[in-house]
Amino acid sequence: MGESGLTVTFHGVRGSTACHDSHTHRYGGNTSCVSVKSPNDAPIIFDLGTGLRYMNISQTETEIGLQPRPFVGTCLLTHLHWDHIQGLPFFDSMLCEETVLDIYAPKQEDGRSLREILLKKICPPIFPISLNEFKATINFHELGDDDFMIGETAVMSRFVPHTGPTLGFRITAGDSTVTYLPDHQQPVTGFAITNGARQLCQKTDLLIHDSQYTPAEFELKSDWGHSTLEFAMWVAETTSSRRLALFHHDPSRTDDALDVIAQRLVAVAKNRGFEVFAAAEGMSVEVCGVV
Ligand SMILES: [Zn+2]
Ligand SMILES: [Zn+2]
Repeated sequence: MGESGLTVTFHGVRGSTACHDSHTHRYGGNTSCVSVKSPNDAPIIFDLGTGLRYMNISQTETEIGLQPRPFVGTCLLTHLHWDHIQGLPFFDSMLCEETVLDIYAPKQEDGRSLREILLKKICPPIFPISLNEFKATINFHELGDDDFMIGETAVMSRFVPHTGPTLGFRITAGDSTVTYLPDHQQPVTGFAITNGARQLCQKTDLLIHDSQYTPAEFELKSDWGHSTLEFAMWVAETTSSRRLALFHHDPSRTDDALDVIAQRLVAVAKNRGFEVFAAAEGMSVEVCGVV
């Protein structure tokens, strides 16, 4: 990793709901959670899906939860759908007094605060204890179309089309840029991109983008808030992104199907001037910008 490089690790790559069977275990069945480590700042986590539970452990550790470890860092939360928050009450660092988690998430149209909404999802009888009873300190920050700094990392948030208030994020540390757009409604007819989404993606080093559907699936679910693989490829090309991570895989997508898709698209992307891969649980990617 270069001095300004970022290490991006995928802890959950699945969309909509967690899944696990013999056909999905290689790419993984946990929902959206990606961590980013930079040389100078505390970690940044994109989303709090069920993959969050695995963020603190290496692949070989099995005693998860027995010795909770404190975590101090930031979460950039795109929106409040279940598949993006379900890992929070199962994150073992939530049991540590030393944990301080700053959660940045979209402000809500009805004026309710983020804490108020999450308290209604993490409370008895839905969960054994209330969010307020965890030992960790959680600070909430409400966002719209904003530009701000977390330490030495520049963060851009922009509302993007999905269902309900949803943000995409772009972070830049030194010369390295990562864009996270896990839930992105493609237009029902034709390909187009909003100004906000374009700002997030333009010339990014790594674009992590919704690629939930095949065209046939999109025909049936065109207003469910997501993108096709082809739209994700178009967004990467039209914004001159350097690398595209296919992400938010449909829970019905098998490992073998993802292999075939990734193999087919690698050649297509090469012809269009960028790289593509299908994100998998446990995968780490080094991101170094071109000076
Ligand atoms: Zn989602
Ligand atoms: Zn969603």
